[in-house]
Amino acid sequence: MELLRIENLTHMFGGLKAISDLHIAVNRKTIYGVIGANGAGKTTLFNLITGIYKPTAGRIVLDRTSLVGKPSYEISRLGVARTFQNLRLFNDLNVIENIHVGQICHRGLRKSKAKEMSDKIEDLLNLFGLEMRANEKAGNLPYGMQRKLEIARALATEPKLLLLDEPAAGMNPKEVLGLVSLIQEVKKQFSDITIVLIEHQMKLVEGLCDYVTVMNFGQAIANGTVQEVQSNPKVIKAYLGEA
Ligand code: ATP
Repeated sequence: MELLRIENLTHMFGGLKAISDLHIAVNRKTIYGVIGANGAGKTTLFNLITGIYKPTAGRIVLDRTSLVGKPSYEISRLGVARTFQNLRLFNDLNVIENIHVGQICHRGLRKSKAKEMSDKIEDLLNLFGLEMRANEKAGNLPYGMQRKLEIARALATEPKLLLLDEPAAGMNPKEVLGLVSLIQEVKKQFSDITIVLIEHQMKLVEGLCDYVTVMNFGQAIANGTVQEVQSNPKVIKAYLGEA
């Protein structure tokens, strides 16, 4: 049932405790939201899960395998893919090539799979509405499409766990609505996938996340369904009160 378990996770940057004794359990095939104001520690959490940083203390376990101390490429091969708050596309490669890079990371360059790989690229292009832009350089796409392409590239690695870091950052309200239905569609089509998404707007996680953790200054101040945390006095005081 459970795919990801985080226990007693703590991370220090010098004297600053960016993550403090965090516990999170993410069930398979769910969408889990991590919400919190700027500086709450959300991106640091993703950097710890993906092996960019090694935690000061605590455990991160995916499918009974400890991720702590493993290099990022190995964590990626174990089935963890992510997007970044600030886009990290290959701007001079076209849309197809960007998605193909994701596939190569996962599968290597085995030629026998070429047809299957190109079929999967086509499916992703259709799902993300990028088919008309397939041969355009990523750097020339409108911003909203670049954000979608980053998710498509991450999915091309066929992850068990997809980490989305503020996928709606910089989007207008209409684009945000489109993103919500897109993520719902991803969930439907990739039926085994588990998604953890970071957001600082409660709006995006409403209707999308099965369960959320609200972070404040590195600590989880509430866990539960969106409805439950929205009525939690600590959350209202620390976070929603200012929204
Ligand atoms: P945002 O929404 O602004 O990205 P966040 O919740 O993702 O915020 P983090 O980026 O994880 O927050 O930062 C948590 C804390 O750790 C902040 O106080 C930040 O300044 C600090 N921090 C993050 N990365 C580093 C680093 N590499 N070195 C030192 N301090 C850092």
